[in-house]
Amino acid sequence: MEKPALILTRFAPSPTGLLHIGHAYAAVFAEKIASHFGGHCLLRLENIDEGRCRQKFETAIYDDLAWLGFHWATPVRRQSEHMDDYQAALNQLSQMDLLYPCFCTRKDIKDATAAPHFGSHGPDGPLYPGTCRTLTPCQRQQKIESGRPYALRLNMKRAIQQAGPLFWKDLAQGTIQATPDIFGDVVLARKDTPTSYHLAVTVDDDLQAIRIVTRGSDLFQATHIHRLLQKLLGLRTPEYLHHKLMCDQNGQRLAKRNKATSLQSLRKSGHTPTDILIKFNQLVQVQLEEIV
Ligand code: GLU
Repeated sequence: MEKPALILTRFAPSPTGLLHIGHAYAAVFAEKIASHFGGHCLLRLENIDEGRCRQKFETAIYDDLAWLGFHWATPVRRQSEHMDDYQAALNQLSQMDLLYPCFCTRKDIKDATAAPHFGSHGPDGPLYPGTCRTLTPCQRQQKIESGRPYALRLNMKRAIQQAGPLFWKDLAQGTIQATPDIFGDVVLARKDTPTSYHLAVTVDDDLQAIRIVTRGSDLFQATHIHRLLQKLLGLRTPEYLHHKLMCDQNGQRLAKRNKATSLQSLRKSGHTPTDILIKFNQLVQVQLEEIV
């Protein structure tokens, strides 16, 4: 009889700052869900953003996770070392005629979407107005040759037409119909780095055979895009489980820039991992009971 594949989850922080208590919860959550299903959790470093990622934050991630008692297999996948994988996915989408170069600056987009009648908003703000989608091949060529930096955007309408209706399973919310159109023409390769969060995470989850993607509820909507990319690229679809986000006393989401809630400062001020884990275990238990 074929051995069933091990259930893998992952904790995928970006080394752009110190981990805070919310990250610790995400790590514990990923680990507990994996062990609930008899599997284990991988660590992945989402460090595509060269301008913001720092080696010292990567070191701090390892130190904080070790302190928390988190175990991870090595080598850890560091996205910056796998740009070829993302390029291969971009080539595939480009051959399907689903990408176009976008030369717009942030200001161009801000100006184009600032008009009071501009009504198209998505989960991340105003939708891209499509300025560069309608450039002629000749105009594109000229701009590229003139050295203008460009991002690559997905032609969302065409991508959805090719993909057809799509669904994904959220372990707490059941079957969800994918509605990636709410994001408009998303960027899949940024001007400063030849990939994007959406592309890299989708490719990696498949390459690492992740069976259950656990992450914060702030990324629930992003799953619509990831499901579309899976279909277009012929990748597997994991199941998803989105956890609640930790807030401070004022009900605000924790941020990396707020040093007070960093694991490092908690560690230095005498807290023990047990103080943190006892509370987390109860929270995870509540969420486990919600799994359908
Ligand atoms: N790298 C993302 C973060 O630090 C997590 C992305 C994901 O889990 O899909 O928020």
